[in-house]
Amino acid sequence: MRAFYHPDQALHEQLQYMRFGKIVPPKDLPERTERLLAALGRHGIVAEPPAAHGVKPVLEVHDAKFVEFLKTVWERWKILPERGPEAWPNTFPYWSARPDEDSRPPCRPSGIVGQLGWYLGDLSVPVGEHCWRSTLRSAETAISGADAILAGELRAYGLCRPSGHHARSDRASGFCYINNTAVAAQRLRTKFEKIAILDVDAHHGDGTQQIFYRRSDVLTISIHADPANYYPFFTGYADERGNGAGEGFNLNLPLKHASVGADMLAAVKKAGEAIRSFGAQALVLALGYDAHKDDPIGVLKLEASDFGDIGRLVNDLRLPTLVVQEGGYAIDAIGDCLDAFLAEFTRS
Ligand SMILES: [Zn+2]
Repeated sequence: MRAFYHPDQALHEQLQYMRFGKIVPPKDLPERTERLLAALGRHGIVAEPPAAHGVKPVLEVHDAKFVEFLKTVWERWKILPERGPEAWPNTFPYWSARPDEDSRPPCRPSGIVGQLGWYLGDLSVPVGEHCWRSTLRSAETAISGADAILAGELRAYGLCRPSGHHARSDRASGFCYINNTAVAAQRLRTKFEKIAILDVDAHHGDGTQQIFYRRSDVLTISIHADPANYYPFFTGYADERGNGAGEGFNLNLPLKHASVGADMLAAVKKAGEAIRSFGAQALVLALGYDAHKDDPIGVLKLEASDFGDIGRLVNDLRLPTLVVQEGGYAIDAIGDCLDAFLAEFTRS
């Protein structure tokens, strides 16, 4: 199995994050990448650096003004006479949680504070000096993974960091800036007519849902903890089924908090049936390990070995599959989760 990663992806280092009314240390530590690379190494897999794809493939699913904002905001922020250590919003527009998933009109404010509120959806996506560089490399990692599948590989893995599944077409949130999974799925559409995205992470893949909500060529499925009292709160409910031409092509399978491996596996089986009846020709698995019982911001109770069972069920689909790394913050557990997953997923 080919895997991709660029060392620049570890440069991004958030300094702050808001949780329960307190500014706390970040959870997306650069060290996550070392732990995941070590797990790949245990399977004899050496990650290749991605090609320099640039922003063009990113713009296939993201708003150009949003991407330009991400690219330039640090340079604009750092010259402010009075500023904090990272670009961070202090206001949010009413538009943030629209359930119909329509894209928003252009951002009206020209000033940086208004734009921060428009383009950064919450207080977990501060933008620092290296944010854009790491974000672009992370997207390029997913794109190179997709290209490997397009070239005939049955399986590929993109070690993406920052993660992507909370990023909407025009909004960053939840530690995510560019939606790597969506960019990769769109890339796969150059060859395959029907793509399925299966998002398995403690959190609803809200950005991925929004990007494809009105489309019937990309089936989006997300398995996650019940959002009624968990991030991202405003989406991820079972009655969100798609809109317009996309009606019936979005499936949310929320799990009760404290669910265990057997509950997750039942949901993955249900997702597999939906993927088969859709007639998917390729799959993007957006995989996070924050469903692990030790995750510092998790509410589910999976063991590392449960990720092996997920790998087996996904492998059983026998589809060309790109795995895109999403969340997982229990530093001492994430390597074991990837390990267990790979042992079953790479079985021929
Ligand atoms: Zn997550």
